[in-house]
Amino acid sequence: MQNIVLFGPPGAGKGTQSAFLVDHFGFVHLSTGDIFRSNIKGATELGKLAKSYLDKGQLVPDGVTIEMLEDSVNASPDAKGFIFDGFPRTTAQAEALDAFLKGKGHAISAMLALEVPEEELRTRLAKRAETSGRVDDADPLVIQKRIDVYNEETAPVAEHYRFQNKYIGVQGVGGMEEIFERLSAAIKGLS
Ligand code: AMP
Repeated sequence: MQNIVLFGPPGAGKGTQSAFLVDHFGFVHLSTGDIFRSNIKGATELGKLAKSYLDKGQLVPDGVTIEMLEDSVNASPDAKGFIFDGFPRTTAQAEALDAFLKGKGHAISAMLALEVPEEELRTRLAKRAETSGRVDDADPLVIQKRIDVYNEETAPVAEHYRFQNKYIGVQGVGGMEEIFERLSAAIKGLS
């Protein structure tokens, strides 16, 4: 079973590339951002709790996020592998994910980290705002907050996987197909 953490700042292309990887490798895609947004849309208790955090570009508290992610993994018992997109976003989430997978006899195979310069991220997010309908894409201050949160709280998660020799940096600038080829090659190269 291959389990991939697809990592990178907001606007790095994690969602787009996840869709390609699902088509090609048959992974189950778990995006915590998507799960929160669908709960907000459905006005569930979880959605009500998460909304204020998403709208401000802040992280939803670890306890709630970890429980939601674990429930989502448990809901796909026949998965041949997962792509975790937007999770883990804190070191505590990474530790919880490792322990949870270990309890099932599994592990993260690799962190594939899309590397994109900050200026390019701002340009992409502003463009995405035209079509995404996402409140958190529409306001430059919220975009900046998400980039700051990424740099302060999420970037250290890369160290967690570097320490386990699982970090693979992938150039996230270029054509979508080109980036997909880089990610595929990295996945095929995993033992
Ligand atoms: P994304 O769709 O990955 O850009 O996530 C959108 C928003 O959902 C983030 O700005 C956070 O408010 C929330 N979110 C998504 N994933 C997580 C996570 N792993 N931990 C905490 N908050 C998250």
